[in-house]
Amino acid sequence: MEEYQGKATMEKITSLAKRRGFVFQSSEIYGGQSGAWDYGPLGVELKNRIASLWWKEMTRLQDDIVGLDSSILMHPRVWEASGHVENFTDPLIDCKKCKSRFREDMINDDNLTAKKCPDCGGELTDSRKFNLMFKTNIGAVEDSSNIIYLRPETAQGIYLNYKNVIQSSRLKIPFGIAQIGKAFRNEIVTKNFIFRTCEFEQMEMQFFVKPGTDEHWFDEWRKRRWAYYERLGIRQERLRWHEHGPGEIAHYAKAAYDIEYHFPMGWRELEGVHNRTDYDLARHTQFSGKDMQYIDQDSNERYIPYIVETSGGLTRSLLMILCDAYDEEEVEGEVRTVMRFHPEIAPITVAVLPLMKKDGLAELSLDIQNELKEDFATDYDQGGAIGRRYRRQDEAGTPFCITIDYETKENNTVTLRFRDSMEQVRIHRAEIAERLRKEIKGVK
Ligand code: ATP
Repeated sequence: MEEYQGKATMEKITSLAKRRGFVFQSSEIYGGQSGAWDYGPLGVELKNRIASLWWKEMTRLQDDIVGLDSSILMHPRVWEASGHVENFTDPLIDCKKCKSRFREDMINDDNLTAKKCPDCGGELTDSRKFNLMFKTNIGAVEDSSNIIYLRPETAQGIYLNYKNVIQSSRLKIPFGIAQIGKAFRNEIVTKNFIFRTCEFEQMEMQFFVKPGTDEHWFDEWRKRRWAYYERLGIRQERLRWHEHGPGEIAHYAKAAYDIEYHFPMGWRELEGVHNRTDYDLARHTQFSGKDMQYIDQDSNERYIPYIVETSGGLTRSLLMILCDAYDEEEVEGEVRTVMRFHPEIAPITVAVLPLMKKDGLAELSLDIQNELKEDFATDYDQGGAIGRRYRRQDEAGTPFCITIDYETKENNTVTLRFRDSMEQVRIHRAEIAERLRKEIKGVK
């Protein structure tokens, strides 16, 4: 296995995330709820930033893609039509002795043949199909007539609305619909922090194309999604493609590639690009009795569009960004932990720090922070030695600090300190906003 080159470990990431308020365990005082996590003050900012960059990339910068926010609860027939009731299963195996539960594909072949538990050596049960959808009841009575599912993917809400979107926006094929939202899966094994959870967020885009042009668009979207991660500044040596082989491919897809990221625990899927063909819309036609064909006004042709999807996890992206940004270096005999977030992603863009609280420096700093608030995510910190405060901001991934001292009172200049190089320059107070904008733009 290729060795991981970064400084992060999952333990370090999990502990920094808690210490600095990125991610907390859900229901911690009750011993925690597995598969669920809470996003703290810095985490929610980071998550919103990742979502809004994706949204900008996939809607604002594309002429032919619009957004949607569909409901989590949908008619149960949707999941019969989509194939999830029948096919969205993992092979589950239990240990009769220690009661541990495994996904069959995660047990090595020797243990599987011997039917021996990898944990305790006890006897394993046969494999059985376990559906990953969360099922509950809607309304007052609990019976099979009112079953409802928590959606396991956001895509189906897009398919059901594709005709509404065409009619209300006059889009023509090829076009796409993008959506960010929660999805739920009853995952058998949830580990590695927020990598695989039961409640998570997806960022999905469904691109509707004419049959026959699907392979072109599939290649095109693979290129565009790769370029997106490049622009985000993700370390290229930690990204690679993985093509789904015959045993791996989902029930709805004709071709599938994953963009994988080299996490501390190994190469894992970050986002999938799938050619879903006309599978979903044809099945919805069959199950709903409604015609899901597209009518091409120019040529008078009718057809069920093919769909190329890009499907990524927002919460999984956040983990990737934490791992990618994590760095440690030795500075003056001490280890400096620094989160090297792209300035457009960093939860705090600029921290304003008075050298001392007294002599009006605190008031002056708050005044400067107020000027910057409208355009930047700011923080104010007056507690402790300045060196310690810089380290705190480094750990939070704040790319810029502005320090106010006695000279500021005399000539209105401040110190601008850069997170990555730790370089400091003196600039005029009136130049701060412009300079920050330039610095942010300058980062690839
Ligand atoms: P896996 O094989 O890892 O279970 P998948 O191939 O089923 O994933 P998709 O159905 O293609 O995943 O989902 C698209 C994206 O949604 C994934 O690339 C991932 O980023 C995210 N995702 C899927 N399941 C989870 C989960 N349980 N927790 C967090 N993110 C998830």
